[in-house]
Amino acid sequence: MSVLEMKHIKKSFGEFEVLKDISLEVNKGDVLSIIGPSGSGKSTLLRCAVNLEKISGGKIEYNDKLMADTNENGIVTYAPKSQLKELKSTYGLVFQNFNLFPHYSVWKNITDAPLNVQKRDKKEVEETANRLLEKMGIANKKDAYPCELSGGQQQRVSIARALAMNPDILFFDEPTSALDPELTKEVLKVIKELASEHMTMVIVTHEMSFAKEVSNRIIFMENGVIVEDGTPEQVFNSQNARTREFIGKYN
Ligand code: ADP
Ligand code: MG
Repeated sequence: MSVLEMKHIKKSFGEFEVLKDISLEVNKGDVLSIIGPSGSGKSTLLRCAVNLEKISGGKIEYNDKLMADTNENGIVTYAPKSQLKELKSTYGLVFQNFNLFPHYSVWKNITDAPLNVQKRDKKEVEETANRLLEKMGIANKKDAYPCELSGGQQQRVSIARALAMNPDILFFDEPTSALDPELTKEVLKVIKELASEHMTMVIVTHEMSFAKEVSNRIIFMENGVIVEDGTPEQVFNSQNARTREFIGKYN
């Protein structure tokens, strides 16, 4: 069952075409890693998927519900506000630099949107938040503020915050690139755990051995196009010169 479908996605900033006809489908339970050089359009692709950027062409669907589509004249139309709002609960994004609200405690960072945006039951949200804090190994930090936490703890709070919305799919944009190796390990560990529970995820990462271990699919992207899309086995044994060169740099 397809959770996300992106078809023929184009995205330009002015004259500069960052995404050139990108198509990908993510099925329930997929763990898809996206690798590729800096500047290849990986963050832009995620930002388009979560509606932080508007596409210049193509189609985006979540669970067969349209987010955006393009007509035969090349005009892009987004779904009405009410549908976009509904779709927002189906996905979450974990940023490179955590993006927690600095003036909110850990607890409020996690519970605010489920209570005030999704208008969920207080008791249920509190139970969910407690369970996620436990799971992320930060139960003792619920009254702390982001500035009082290590980068690894902050990133685990942002993962808990994203999961608290009960998304069908979670996007990660280089979740460990701001962390030193020790903190990277603890964040990769929780993502691995989510993968073993079959959480549907799309992960932009430079951690090649992690990508190989955790994903059932890997996409190699360069200059706004998908160069390879296959199983870790296929991508890591690719005969494509560019793919080999890129992977070689990280191994
Ligand atoms: P990656 O995440 O793969 O490093 P990005 O998606 O961040 O790549 O960026 C792809 C290209 O798009 C880069 O050349 C970047 O400078 C450009 N770009 C990204 N965001 C913007 C923007 N808001 N305005 C103009 N150019 C942008
Ligand atoms: Mg990026």
